[in-house]
Amino acid sequence: MHNTLPETLVVGALATNCYLYPLESVPDTPLCPCVVIDPGADAGVIITRLESLRWYPRYILLTHGHFDHLAALPTLLTHYDGKPEVAIHEADAAYLGTKARQVHRHSFIAFMGDSAYVDALWEDMPQATRLVVEGDCVGPLRVLHLAGHSPGSAGFYDEAAGLLFSGDTLFKDGFGRVDLPGGSTKALVSSLKRLCIGDDNYFIEEHTVVYPGHGAVTTIGAEKSRYHWPKQTC
Ligand SMILES: [Zn+2]
Repeated sequence: MHNTLPETLVVGALATNCYLYPLESVPDTPLCPCVVIDPGADAGVIITRLESLRWYPRYILLTHGHFDHLAALPTLLTHYDGKPEVAIHEADAAYLGTKARQVHRHSFIAFMGDSAYVDALWEDMPQATRLVVEGDCVGPLRVLHLAGHSPGSAGFYDEAAGLLFSGDTLFKDGFGRVDLPGGSTKALVSSLKRLCIGDDNYFIEEHTVVYPGHGAVTTIGAEKSRYHWPKQTC
């Protein structure tokens, strides 16, 4: 277990939380490997912070494919010579790669009525180097498939450290919208139940700190208390 907390950068016009999460440092090396989660914009700001911390990205993880969570990915990847592993859930794979621009334009037209935001920031989007599914591990983070906000929304859970990167599935005082392409109310409710009351595979402790895709940090316990969950039956 390591005890270093994530660094938070709020990036882009949609105020996305980009997290820098350090991995165990390697003895006798000057730089510490880390995970970059959701580089949503402002690649220069992200790189400057990484350099000032003397960290470098071994992994770039995307909680889902929406453009405000990955617009800085091309520049970041180029800056680090294509070396970081880029991972996204397989159900959101279409948001990366050569055909991604139309997917993002379609999504933003549904969101804002036009695709100006995508067109202004667009750079050719790389493919993921790894498509992940439920239960995979990337460094210390276990993938939880949390469909609903998008088909491939995922949480990244470090059980030993007691923290969860929840993307746009669970926020402080709220949860993600489901009216964008691929969204599903039924799936989102199921994902929120998983996080807050558990399922056959997981029970996430109430003290687990939740780092959402937008807004302030919260805990599983605080969010659980806001909802009237049905009593569990056997
Ligand atoms: Zn989103």
